[in-house]
Amino acid sequence: MLSVSQAEARILELVHPLKTVETVTLREANRRVLGQTVVSVQDFPYWPNSAMDGYAVQWEDVAQATPHQPDRLTITEEIPAGQEPQRVLLKGQAARIFTGAKLPQGADTVIMQEQTQCQGDQVLILSAPSQKGHFVRSQGEYCQKGENLLEAGIRLQAPELAVLATAQVSQVSVYRRPQVAIFSTGDELIAVEQTLTGAKIVDSNQYALAAFVENQGAIPVSLGIVPDDPDRLKSTMAQAIVSADLVLSTGGVSVGDYDYVEKLLAELGGEIVIRSVAMKPGKPLTVAKFANGCVYFGIPGNPVSALVSCWRFVQPAIAKLSGLSAPWSPVWVKAQTQTRLTSDGQRETYLWGRVQCSSTGDLTFAIAPGSHSSGNLINLAQANALAVLPIGTKEIASQETITLLLPQGL
Ligand code: AMP
Ligand code: MG
Repeated sequence: MLSVSQAEARILELVHPLKTVETVTLREANRRVLGQTVVSVQDFPYWPNSAMDGYAVQWEDVAQATPHQPDRLTITEEIPAGQEPQRVLLKGQAARIFTGAKLPQGADTVIMQEQTQCQGDQVLILSAPSQKGHFVRSQGEYCQKGENLLEAGIRLQAPELAVLATAQVSQVSVYRRPQVAIFSTGDELIAVEQTLTGAKIVDSNQYALAAFVENQGAIPVSLGIVPDDPDRLKSTMAQAIVSADLVLSTGGVSVGDYDYVEKLLAELGGEIVIRSVAMKPGKPLTVAKFANGCVYFGIPGNPVSALVSCWRFVQPAIAKLSGLSAPWSPVWVKAQTQTRLTSDGQRETYLWGRVQCSSTGDLTFAIAPGSHSSGNLINLAQANALAVLPIGTKEIASQETITLLLPQGL
């Protein structure tokens, strides 16, 4: 049996970024992965401008100003934001200026209006600025022409879209989103809208996995429920493998008489690279690689195992496939556990619960109350962290520091 980190490393070796790019509008680019580094074609700010409402001056004129000995300057013009300055500023002069307005030539410093007193066409400067250039946003201070504005391989979100807009990039090159086929296997499964009878249960994994895939920025393609019938299972698997970049099927990967996935993967020509992982929940994870590049995840059917497997292994795979820059591993943080945590010590154990920021600013972990059975999907609701107990650790005392996996990242 592979360790969790060995399994993750194997998965990342199998997966290669889909480097096909497509062009989308800026509005469509939210949450997409940037496919091409954007080089700045201009300086930011474009020109020196004022960070305050006040007066643009020459530093040397006002360097000694105090409330008792203010400097008196002659006002040359008023420069609102959006208006080109009309005059070069000379010694002994000040220009009335507003936040974001372009600095007139000759000015190097801005005095905020609270430190001034206007007297007709003159202004008294009541205090010296701390340094030359005070309250001026100088040209190229944020980024200079020719520098990289945004690197390929980053996820575009609100701040990055603002950067692209300011650089007038209205069409964005992004990587194609991975297509992820999802289906559930099991004779016991019915769809959510069907009537529950006899020994049936509702296929909840389909919804969990589709939402998970969507949250990773990939496209879920639902293939529904497939019964534990080798022929039907094989044909759905074959269809998924030829049409998707990644396949996630749940169920049928244990050692039961009706668990056909591994055998069928081999029959379909898959190279099986993982058969099980020393992990709880999630031990029967099966991973295979196909000649067309498709990577198949046979995920255990228990609802908690299914999501924990996705968070621990599928998330890095989708991240790499999507063209995101490394690291692809999940996000880990340290926190203090509020209760004792236990495991049998045999496998790397993941316990679900909530991480919170305490009033002192420390992260604390509260395990979800109730059963930590891999079938108990009820107390998985509202979990935002998985506490990890390494192999060999049977107990972690309350108040000890633990490692948490954050499924939603930071
Ligand atoms: P399996 O991995 O097929 O042995 O299934 C393990 C357990 O998970 C069984 O109790 C199944 O009934 C349950 N299970 C399997 N697939 C699903 C699903 N799609 N939704 C909810 N529970 C499932
Ligand atoms: Mg089953």
